[in-house]
Amino acid sequence: MKREGIILIISAPSGAGKTTLCHNLLKRFPNMKESISYTTRLPRPGEVDGVDYFFVSPETFQQMVADDAFAEWAEVHGNMYGTALTTLEKARTDGIDLVLDIDCQGARRLKEQIERCLYVFILPPSMAELRRRLESRSSDSQDVINLRIERATGEIREARWYDYIIINDRFETATEELSSIVIAQSRKTFRMLDQVAKLFDI
Ligand code: 5GP
Repeated sequence: MKREGIILIISAPSGAGKTTLCHNLLKRFPNMKESISYTTRLPRPGEVDGVDYFFVSPETFQQMVADDAFAEWAEVHGNMYGTALTTLEKARTDGIDLVLDIDCQGARRLKEQIERCLYVFILPPSMAELRRRLESRSSDSQDVINLRIERATGEIREARWYDYIIINDRFETATEELSSIVIAQSRKTFRMLDQVAKLFDI
């Protein structure tokens, strides 16, 4: 019997540094994989189907909703995004730790559907710093930045029901904090019992 895989949900407002933190986590924990979501959004340059997302038509997505194929799904910025139930089930039974980068609505739905997931919210150190980070990306117009800031206020309110909150001031510190959470979760008694039984023949 493999130990049950960890399902780690990470949410954050745009600009909080979630992508880099997830990347650091995957480098640090070789047993950890990124969950690949389904989306109706079109691929951006360089994105690969089956690697970044499963890119599907709105019809296919709706059919999956009707078939109860999703553990959670949500509309984000006008596109549909969803996590397949089979992705979570397979990782859990195979003992693979999974990280899900999903929005607050999806995370909340998951909390109602699936037991024993771990919810982590990443915050920027301040609204001023969030704005500075979004502006330094220089890829977005001022209108888009203002929209993201407005949206962030609503998202940050959701942080209260997550299991852990990390304030991402310095990437190194935030990565350490996130890693500590994963390590603690991997040492939960129910994940250790098989190993203990083998070691001590009990
Ligand atoms: P992007 O289109 O930039 O890749 O992602 C936009 C947003 O969709 C991000 O905030 C990300 O967290 C969210 N997202 C990505 N995959 C999923 C998913 O499977 N479910 C939900 N609820 N949100 C997702």
